[in-house]
Amino acid sequence: MNSILKKPFEGWNLEKAERPLIIAGPCSAESEEQIMTTARQLKNMNVSLFRAGIWKPRTRPNSFEGVGSIGLEWLKTVQKELNMKVATEVANVKHVYEALRYGVDVIWIGARTSANPFAMQEIADALKGVDLPVFIKNPVNPDVELWIGAIERIMGAGISKVGAIHRGFSTFDKTRYRNTPQWQLPIELRQKMPHIPMICDPSHIAGRRDILQEISQKALDLNFDGLIIETHCNPDKAWSDAKQQITPVELDKLIAKLVLRHRVSDNNSFIETLEDLRVQIDKYDDELLNIIEERMKIAETIGKFKKENNITILQPDRWQEILNKTLQKGENRELSIDFINTLFKAIHQESINKQTKIMNDD
Ligand code: PEP
Ligand code: MN
Repeated sequence: MNSILKKPFEGWNLEKAERPLIIAGPCSAESEEQIMTTARQLKNMNVSLFRAGIWKPRTRPNSFEGVGSIGLEWLKTVQKELNMKVATEVANVKHVYEALRYGVDVIWIGARTSANPFAMQEIADALKGVDLPVFIKNPVNPDVELWIGAIERIMGAGISKVGAIHRGFSTFDKTRYRNTPQWQLPIELRQKMPHIPMICDPSHIAGRRDILQEISQKALDLNFDGLIIETHCNPDKAWSDAKQQITPVELDKLIAKLVLRHRVSDNNSFIETLEDLRVQIDKYDDELLNIIEERMKIAETIGKFKKENNITILQPDRWQEILNKTLQKGENRELSIDFINTLFKAIHQESINKQTKIMNDD
């Protein structure tokens, strides 16, 4: 994901808008004191934008759903007293008008809203004629086209400063993440929309504190342009998302530990060595494809043979045997269980598709 954006936030009217852009602040605004204490602690850190949710889209009713417009007063105090830029989430037209009325500097659209084209279009229409930077989080479901559609609707309203936020995707499976990152999706978005700055939200991907550093570093290594990290003066007592929030001091340490790698090098010997290694990778990729092609030809022969003998395509015992064998062999080669599982399930599925086609061809 090679960003072509040298200065992704140029013209966004943010202070310290160098890459990586850091957005920090609590999940939710809770009280003026909580907002001011957190913002004061963040003031002298490398933070470009202070975030706080005012209206909170919660999964179940009767939980804390945000303080509402009073929180916008507190954000105004952050702007005035601390001279910081502020951002909040909008989910409907009323929120947009309120955010504009209070002079919020940047808005973002959450994952539940970006999944809904009707809501996106209404928000886009309400933003016509306004020049406010807007970040659009990925929809909760892993659908790049839906994410692109949401971005296009906002751009269609004439908004020129549009960014994307990767916050991971909901899954039924229990994983180590709250929302699985599925990095290939933001990578695909960037390929399709290379001019859109992209930042990562490790807080909502992780859902916990101990893997925030690792996710943040991974995002930077994939050339993301910034991070949005939930930060609270007293995270354990937060009214929402307590488990994933960190203190400003912890944020400062996290940022200090990040390694910013160069996107390109002008060192000739590095370039030549890399070229050389890439030639070898390309050669192995070709070999892999040739081997897979040969394997599929054999699967097709088996398909014909099964058809002639009127035998079903899926043979669960045989498939389990293959999977067990390859998992074991993969482990001996230091290949992760996840990888072998995904790879062989995909190969097996392709074999089944080919055999099904043969079965059903006249
Ligand atoms: C948030 O940023 O607090 C939030 C609600 O995020 P998401 O829309 O990604 O769930
Ligand atoms: Mn949150």
